[in-house]
Amino acid sequence: MSAFQADSQQLILALSKGRIFEDTLPLLEAAGITVTENPETSRKLILPTNDPNVRVLIVRATDVPTYVQHGAADFGVAGKDVLLEHGGEGLYQPIDLHIAECRMSVAVRNGFDYETAVRQGARLRVATKFVETARAHFAKKGVHVDLIKLYGSMELAPLVGLSDAIVDVVSTGNTLRANDLKEVEAIMDISSRLIVNQAALKMKRERLQPILEAFERASKK
Ligand code: ATP
Ligand code: MG
Repeated sequence: MSAFQADSQQLILALSKGRIFEDTLPLLEAAGITVTENPETSRKLILPTNDPNVRVLIVRATDVPTYVQHGAADFGVAGKDVLLEHGGEGLYQPIDLHIAECRMSVAVRNGFDYETAVRQGARLRVATKFVETARAHFAKKGVHVDLIKLYGSMELAPLVGLSDAIVDVVSTGNTLRANDLKEVEAIMDISSRLIVNQAALKMKRERLQPILEAFERASKK
């Protein structure tokens, strides 16, 4: 373990900027923790809070489970989409926080007949950031797919002929509509979960437990 976290009083929380950070702030407030710098304007990647023993790491959404798994952060908040791709190894996932709610869906270009393509057993080219989720979904349906891994802007892929379909998270559908795409199949509901490093849960239980309880109470409102 690094000197950075050798002190068992110290708690490190991993969050991603944007939606998850914003939606986690009220939960932290419920636990008496106020983040005293704004990640959108600060260049700091380690943010202080009003509690000298609690600090917040700002990392990419997909990196949150990795920091928590390896104990570089004691706990974090990550989407179910991200957790399914990560696999959840070394992570305790006690609470669905009901924040950043959306769904994982299949979308195609307007005019592409997805149902017929599936019925006729066509081989589909599917572009996605969520290859494990997509693989499992199409395997269960018995649809043969060529998966194309992307890291963002999935909506572009069907428009330029890179793929027939995409698997992506959708909330309002506005981005799909703006790009001449339509949602053809919902795969699963997505929300963000609290994740805790399994060793930290044992070693720092006294510090963590009241925060987990406050998060649980506040997320049910
Ligand atoms: P990055 O922008 O760093 O590539 P990202 O796009 O995965 O990462 P965010 O856009 O901050 O990061 O999304 C974080 C989480 O919020 C996602 O993992 C997902 O669970 C959820 N999410 C994504 N899009 C939406 C949406 N439109 N509405 C609600 N929740 C969403
Ligand atoms: Mg994003």
